[in-house]
Amino acid sequence: MTTAFISHADCILHDMGPEHPESPLRLQAIHKVLERTGLIQELQQHTAVPATVEQIELAHSRQHRTGLEQQVPEEGIVHTDDDTALCPDSLHAASLAAGSAVQATDLVLGGGSHNAFCAIRPPGHHAEHNLAMGFCFYNNVAIGALHALQQPMVERVAIVDFDVHHGNGTVDIFKDRPEVLVCSTFQHPYYPERYQDIQRDNILNCPLAAHSKPALFRHALEDRWLPALLAHKPDIIFISAGFDAHVEDPMADLELTEDDYRWATQLLTDVARQCCDGRIVSVLEGGYNPVALAFSVQAHLEVLAAS
Ligand SMILES: [Zn+2]
Repeated sequence: MTTAFISHADCILHDMGPEHPESPLRLQAIHKVLERTGLIQELQQHTAVPATVEQIELAHSRQHRTGLEQQVPEEGIVHTDDDTALCPDSLHAASLAAGSAVQATDLVLGGGSHNAFCAIRPPGHHAEHNLAMGFCFYNNVAIGALHALQQPMVERVAIVDFDVHHGNGTVDIFKDRPEVLVCSTFQHPYYPERYQDIQRDNILNCPLAAHSKPALFRHALEDRWLPALLAHKPDIIFISAGFDAHVEDPMADLELTEDDYRWATQLLTDVARQCCDGRIVSVLEGGYNPVALAFSVQAHLEVLAAS
């Protein structure tokens, strides 16, 4: 089957400073591993196109979008919160990241590819309807999902998020949209502490204590995500693919390895095959040890490409 791989060289221009963990090195490491292993040759490569204003405003208020545009500096960086900053190229990169999710959705729904992975930055799952935070400006996966829901063949969508941080932005955007099931695993208690206790039928939060063994992560997916996904019967599944729950990641304290990401991706491709003819759009979120990130993405893509 065909796996689309969508990226853009300008995504590395977003730069929040030399000490910042959400660094251009992350994407460079991914590209290097995919080229060295030859895996890139097995993927259908696409160059990301920027999201339109209308597509960004599917998930965000106009005030959010224009407020960010007004803060872009002509040089240097401007902080939008303690750990999130804009440089002159940041919103261009953010727009490419959001656009890649739309492009991936069109490819997968149109039959141009079986599934798709967006190797982009900045990430998106902390961006709420009206708030940039946690290294995120536009919620890429939410924009892709809302674009999917505009297509006549799509009535229900699922978003699954295995980033080590809770995807508060995605929950904020879909908390009152029962046609969108949002399943997350995340370290808890931990950043961002915003929607982890919300009670909604379409929000499935699976907190994991620091230093939980990978078996607990696997149980959460098998025992909680799997039945919820099968019951929801999504027409397409989006993955907020953050790899910062890796044991070698400096940001957090879970202990996953490439094997766990391979296993999780296999479970999700099996569910997608049962529910929606295998349609998956996976979008990069976190992962802050560039080497561990690159090998985890490789494992994720090997399963997507073989499914
Ligand atoms: Zn994260």
